This record gives sequence, C-alpha cells and structure tokens, in this order.
Amino acid sequence: MSLVTETQEQTYHSGEYHGFTAAGVEFLYMVPSGSIFALEGMGKRVLELLAAGALQRQALIDKLLEMGYLLAEVEATLQELTEIDAIDCGAPREETFAVPLQEFPLQRVVLNVTNQCNLACTYCYEYSEDRITQPAGRKKFMSADVAEASVDMLFHESGNRRGIHVTFFGGETLLNFPVMRSTVEYAKRKAAKTGKEIEFSLTTNATLLDEEKIDFLSENRIGVTVSIDGDRELHNSQRVFHDGRGSYDVIVPKIKELLKRHRTNSIGARVTLTAGVSDVRRIYRHLTEEIGFNAAGFSPATANPNRLYAIGPQKMDNVLDQFTELAFEYRDCALQNKQHGFTNVSDTLKELHSGISKAYACGAGLGMLGVGTEGNVGLCHRFVDAPVAQMGHVKQGGIDRKARREFLTTHHIGARYDCHACWARPVCAGGCYHEAFIHHGSTSAANLHYCDWIRGWNDVCLRVYGEIATRNPEFLNRFGEN
Ligand code: SF4
Ligand code: SF4
Repeated sequence: MSLVTETQEQTYHSGEYHGFTAAGVEFLYMVPSGSIFALEGMGKRVLELLAAGALQRQALIDKLLEMGYLLAEVEATLQELTEIDAIDCGAPREETFAVPLQEFPLQRVVLNVTNQCNLACTYCYEYSEDRITQPAGRKKFMSADVAEASVDMLFHESGNRRGIHVTFFGGETLLNFPVMRSTVEYAKRKAAKTGKEIEFSLTTNATLLDEEKIDFLSENRIGVTVSIDGDRELHNSQRVFHDGRGSYDVIVPKIKELLKRHRTNSIGARVTLTAGVSDVRRIYRHLTEEIGFNAAGFSPATANPNRLYAIGPQKMDNVLDQFTELAFEYRDCALQNKQHGFTNVSDTLKELHSGISKAYACGAGLGMLGVGTEGNVGLCHRFVDAPVAQMGHVKQGGIDRKARREFLTTHHIGARYDCHACWARPVCAGGCYHEAFIHHGSTSAANLHYCDWIRGWNDVCLRVYGEIATRNPEFLNRFGEN
C-alpha cells in the first residue's frame, strides 16, 4: 500500500542535480546517482518551471501546452525526467544511506616496508608535526616474513576477485629493496598457483634508484610514482636530506634513467603543494617537458592550518585557477585524440564516466588496507601504527572484522550528515579520513574546509567531460567501464 496521498502524487518538484553547460549544451549531473544527461528542449522548460517551486501535475501540463507542446510529447518528457530522477512526482524522497551488508573483498594492500626515510621533507605526514603514525619503538624495516603474511592475507581476503594489487610504500620504500624484491617473487609464485592476476606499484623519492633496481621494476612491470615537487628551486625548498641539502640534483638523472629503461608500466610524478610550492603550471611544464614524465598529479599537503607550509585558502583559489587552465588544455588535447598528462583531470573524468556514486570517500578500509613494519593492519598507508583506525594484524587473525565493520558503519556517507545536501557527494563523499583527522580531530568528520574547492573543481571537470562527450565522445572509451 502506498503511503503517498493522491494530492502528493499529482505534484511535481525538482530532483537533486547540478546543472552545467558545455559546448553549448545544457547537462544535468544527477545526485545521488552520479549519472550525466544532456538536457534539451522541453526538458529544460520543465526544470525552469519547477525551479520556481513545485507544481500540480495538471498545472505543469497546462503551462507546457500553452508553450505550444503537444500532450503526447509532454507526457513522454515528464516520464523521461521522472525516470532519471530530474523531477519527482510525490512526496520528496528521503535518500536512504544504508551500509552495505556484504563483506567487501580486498583488492589492494599497501605495505609500508620501512618507516625510515633518507629525506626530511617539511610536510611529510610520517615525520612532520601532523603525523599520526607512531613508529617509535617499532621495527624500522618490515621482514620478508611479515610481507609474505600480508600477501597471504590479500590472497585470502580477495575472495573471488581475480585482479589484486600490492603497493610498496615507506618511509622511503627502496631502503628495503631486498624485501620488496622477495615479496614480488613470492606473490608472483602464489598468483601462478591460484590463477589470480597480481600487479605491483611503488612510491619512491627516487634517491636510491640505480640500474639494478630499475631493471627489476621494469622486468616485473611495477608501476612507479615518484615524489617530486618541480624544478630545482621549488623541489629543494621542501624535499631535502637530513643535513638540509636539496635532493633535486641527485634524483633527476636517476629519474631520466628510469624513464628511459622502464617501459613496461606507468611512471608518474606526484607533487605535494605547499605554501611555497603552488605554481602548478610551472611545475607541470617542468616535469613533462624538461624531465619527460607522461603523467603528473598534484595534491595539497595535509597540514594543520597553523603550519607555515600549509597552503591557505587564498593560494588554493589560485591553484584552482591553474588547475582549470590545465584542465582546458587537457580538453583541447582530448578533442584531437592526444594524450595529456594532468592526472587530476583524467582521474576525475574516469570517475565521472563510470557514474560513480561513492558511499565512502576512498577505498581505505574497504578494498584497500595498509600494513605497518610489524604487521599491524591500518586503514591505509597513512594510518599504519596509528592510535586510530587499526584493523588487525597479518599474523594474528588477519583483518579485525569487527573493527572494520564499525569503521565502515561510522564512515559511510550516511553518517557524514554535513554532506547530505551537497551535489558533489557522489565523487567526494566527505573526503580523505586522514585530512579529516588532521583538520577536525576525527576521521569521520566531513572535510568542510575545502567544499567550495571540491565543488569548483568538479564543476570544471564536468564541463570538460560534457565538452568531450559532445565533440569527441570516442575519447571517453579509454576510461572503460570501471
Ligand atoms: S566534504 Fe564538502 S564537498 Fe565533500 S561531499 Fe561533503 S559537503 Fe560536499
Ligand atoms: S584515507 Fe586519505 S590518505 Fe588514506 S587512502 Fe583515503 S584518501 Fe588516501
């Protein structure tokens, strides 16, 4: 039996969406479904009429008939708009925010193979004043034994999922190259026996790369992310050795060798933006045109706003302007079927294309977990050996299911109440738990300090998406179904 009254059934009101225009076409980004629709002719009129307030069905139809539309077209359009939830007939719907009940198969483990680093970058979340990991008194290096137990946990917890992934992380990952090498060999043998497909990646500061390591990375198709903050002046202002020397001149020849010898998987640059390092265009040009990276991604340092290196709101506005400029450069390349390496755009376009509507901000605790040097399982690499978000031990029972479920219950978008009226929630879902912890003291807080930025950036990406979808839709096929 329907609880909706006769009168309510006959009343139309607007659904939840974000409208944007691209290539002269008006689009709707539907919330919460995350789908995107081009809006034409009468559809536009209907939404304009309902923008002024709800209308009785007959009053709405009469207005459209007065505009010269035929009854059959009106009814078909109302039906279509209802199907995509752009309009609603009946009582405003309460969105249900249910936590998924099924166990989520693990897809990736991030192994912090060491908590040591040969650099002392000012903003490092493992060494700075804002760190939440507590490496003191713990083993500095992960043993092969713990790494193999982590791999066993991944295989076991991945269920029927065929493709799985191991990411090596630090500290500086290559300080523990022997364990990384033996773990890759172990995991590959295990994959061959079980029929799973395993992939690897690592993040490195590049200081320890040499021919032997590069060849190993290439032979094992290991994706590499290099942390680098731009040209010599910018990079050396943050990324220094413990004696204060900049690391730029040490790493650049090694990176060039890596780009030359390693051709079997992607190699990307990862830039951390801080108060002194925010010239995105200059950095992007340097990394792609002078060093030779095909891909570069940027993210602001996670920092308490009181830190000197924290990138304040004014600089972030400027970063958004520069991101926008590069995003439209990306669009121009896409319209000519050319590759552009600004991964902040390609990552967001991929999410938009998949019609993602996130229940969780990221895969941490869901398909991904971090493991510390002694085998403690944490939410992600930033939470290993932290006082919060701990989820078991690789050799003592594996994943702590109760802790994981509790985390997933309290961090679901349904529990981030501040986000419930936000149109960007299908892609943001409240944002990074680590950022929330540093800024708001709780992993479950919504990152309300950057909402305008997130909405601004997603609006830019939607416009880029709409323009590519209109003028060169085949380009979007590269983002696949997932
Ligand atoms: S954190 Fe802000 S931008 Fe993100 S979903 Fe919540 S309200 Fe929206
Ligand atoms: S919690 Fe933050 S740092 Fe950890 S995986 Fe998610 S987005 Fe990344």
